[in-house]
Amino acid sequence: MFSRDFLYSIRFRLLASLFVLLGLSISVSMYGIWTFERDRQMGIARKEAMQAGQIIEKALRTAMLQNNWEAIHQSVDDIHAIAKPSVLSILSFEGTVAVSSDRSMVGRHFDRDSDPSCVACHTAKGVLPQRTAVFLETAAGPVLRNVLKVPNGPECYGCHAPSQKNCGILMYDVPFADTITMLRTVLFRTALTGLVFFVFLILVLSFIIQRYLHRPLHQLLDGFVQVGSGNFNHWVEVDTRGEFQEMADQFNVMSRAIQRSFVEIRGKNWETTCLYTFVQQLSRAIEWNRLRRLIIELLYETFNARSVVVCLSREKQDRIVYELSWREADDRRYYHREYALRVESDDLPCDIVPEWERWRAGELTAPCFSENDTRVFLPLDSKNVALGLACLQREAGQCFSGAEKKLILAVGEQVGIVLANARLYRMAITDGLTELYTRRYCETAMRKFLEAHESAPENGFCVLMLDIDNFKRVNDTHGHQVGDEVLVQLADLIRSSIRQGDVACRYGGEEFVVLMAGGMNVAKESAMRLRQIIEDHVFRSSSAPPLRNTISIGVANFPLHGRTGEEVLGAADQALYAAKAQGRNRVVCFGGESA
Ligand code: GH3
Ligand code: MG
Ligand code: MG
Repeated sequence: MFSRDFLYSIRFRLLASLFVLLGLSISVSMYGIWTFERDRQMGIARKEAMQAGQIIEKALRTAMLQNNWEAIHQSVDDIHAIAKPSVLSILSFEGTVAVSSDRSMVGRHFDRDSDPSCVACHTAKGVLPQRTAVFLETAAGPVLRNVLKVPNGPECYGCHAPSQKNCGILMYDVPFADTITMLRTVLFRTALTGLVFFVFLILVLSFIIQRYLHRPLHQLLDGFVQVGSGNFNHWVEVDTRGEFQEMADQFNVMSRAIQRSFVEIRGKNWETTCLYTFVQQLSRAIEWNRLRRLIIELLYETFNARSVVVCLSREKQDRIVYELSWREADDRRYYHREYALRVESDDLPCDIVPEWERWRAGELTAPCFSENDTRVFLPLDSKNVALGLACLQREAGQCFSGAEKKLILAVGEQVGIVLANARLYRMAITDGLTELYTRRYCETAMRKFLEAHESAPENGFCVLMLDIDNFKRVNDTHGHQVGDEVLVQLADLIRSSIRQGDVACRYGGEEFVVLMAGGMNVAKESAMRLRQIIEDHVFRSSSAPPLRNTISIGVANFPLHGRTGEEVLGAADQALYAAKAQGRNRVVCFGGESA
């Protein structure tokens, strides 16, 4: 009938409690009124009956003394005619009805020790009764029976022996039905009035509870539900004053405080997650060129930028070069350029040059946001080593939020750190003069090729060993400086003529090794092409006339010409030796074949 929620509600509990309490108190008071009134009425009736009995006894006394039974009968009938429907009976000393206004009673014997109407007062034999009136339920209705002893005296000794205490008993039955009916009417009316008042009281209380307790409580509860489900903008309004109003005010203050903390935590969480993801992705690359590209991609994705431009300074041989890379919205391509002297930004998505010059002059050391917060120039450095400058440009109207600005700062620091590591790594694995990989890195790369072969035996690789022909003569004729310039240009030629994935190393002074995946045919073809490129190339330098140089190349294959890295390198070296022996400027494959 009622829902579970309703049964547990304060409104129901309060009303139910009041209902029970009020019902109980009204019932108790009514019972009190009923018993009090009943006893009072009975007391009055008893008193009146006693008085009546005494009057009757006095009235009958003369007739009794004369022993005139006719007169006694007549008097009893006369009294009955007045006191109808009360019944007046005169019992003998032994308890037999001698005279009665109710003729059916005459001759009836009342045994005081066994008759139900007697034992109510004669509780024990030989003990005088405590009372002389008893309330009886008879077939004709409730009756108050009054018993009056007619005392024996000298004037009675003519008929009664002096040893007799009483001459007889006067029994006066007063019907009590009218009084009971009256009491019941009073009770019914009181109950009816109480019930009406009770219903009225419950209605008033229900209204008060609903208006001042139930409704504000539900408004507060609704607030808890809304805030619990994340709607911190919900404002609790209670349409009552007092404690509930104060509670609602405090609740609203509390929900605003929670909202602020929530936004702060969410911001921090977003910042931490973004930074974590950023750093995690960044840590996947250590190689300079890959890292540079990755930085552009990550900045672009993380900050939803329209364009990202990164300018890095890098040492190349004994000078500094500037690497400019960028990416723009709606263009998946990645652009990269190198400048030796000054950066130009004619076709860049954002003009980085003025800030770049400030950065170079050491004037731009902290992130610099544009006035409308849609662009930021972010210096990239680590431990006082200035590495470059990044520029993030957003669409108009999409300004960087406070949290994003904080994230940019943190990201800038991380980018600086990984760039510094990549710079050190680059210095460790590349040769300072030619920027080709070092001999040590050659060994590392060789291990990777060998591992690839182990996991897939069809993956072989070749080693090209290159040596410049008669290089000593270049040094001797034009000096070491020119020799170095030739080495740099030759390294550039090697780098630009090999495939992505091939590894070119400076193995010794003017000896180079190229590791390339694939079989002998591919390697031999690459070697021949490279030899031709170098033969055709004119080497220019600042302090010598144009020069021409040739190279000799030995080619060996793994696993055809050696079962270990060293063996294949040795085989390539032998082939190179053979190429030199056969007259230089040629390619010789291990085993004797030359081209
Ligand atoms: P070959 O054709 O037999 O190779 O004749 P070669 O003169 O090139 O002989 P070799 O390969 O033995 O010559 C090595 C020379 O390379 C010795 C040295 O002067 C020169 N060289 C080695 N390292 C450097 C370097 O870093 N800079 C310069 N300028 N010269 C170097
Ligand atoms: Mg040599
Ligand atoms: Mg040489």
